[in-house]
Amino acid sequence: MEAPATPATDPRKTDDQVIRYPDPRLRRKAKPVTEVTPELVKRAEGLFPLMYEEEGIGLAAPQVGWNVRLFVVNLSGNPGDELIILNPEIVEESGGTWKAEEGCLSVPKIYGKVIRNKRIRMIGLDLEGEEIEVEAEGMVARCLLHEYDHLDGILFIDRLSAVKKQAIKRKLRALEEDYAEEHGEH
Ligand code: ZN
Repeated sequence: MEAPATPATDPRKTDDQVIRYPDPRLRRKAKPVTEVTPELVKRAEGLFPLMYEEEGIGLAAPQVGWNVRLFVVNLSGNPGDELIILNPEIVEESGGTWKAEEGCLSVPKIYGKVIRNKRIRMIGLDLEGEEIEVEAEGMVARCLLHEYDHLDGILFIDRLSAVKKQAIKRKLRALEEDYAEEHGEH
């Protein structure tokens, strides 16, 4: 018998899964990439299909429990707009600040406004180990800064106003209880 037809899956897909708040692996300072190996390239490229499945626009390695400084972003969802940065560094922030709502695949169902710089210049490496420079503004800059934060163990909920932090307390508590249950801590 023939196997039933399955929907086409992205061949880059790996076994990585998104981990959720309050998983302590989200709070580590990630380590720089020291060598671009084929294994690293494969796992990094696998972040794209996972991000699309989860309907995200950015995904950082620590969000799959991988303690390394790299992330992927794609705001449009078009393959040509895929961006991956290894060992990113913010070299310039300008244009003043603006406030807009953010969410995070690792903090499901919670949203809140975060103040970020409008324009940034970021340098880093691509998957060939070549230096790249990215200038971005608006939502793209916001997304890059949000993902960059993950590499330092910072979540967008840390950057919310005191009032908003108070307002999401119960939702965070619910996520903490889910986590404790899944990990057998009663
Ligand atoms: Zn996030």
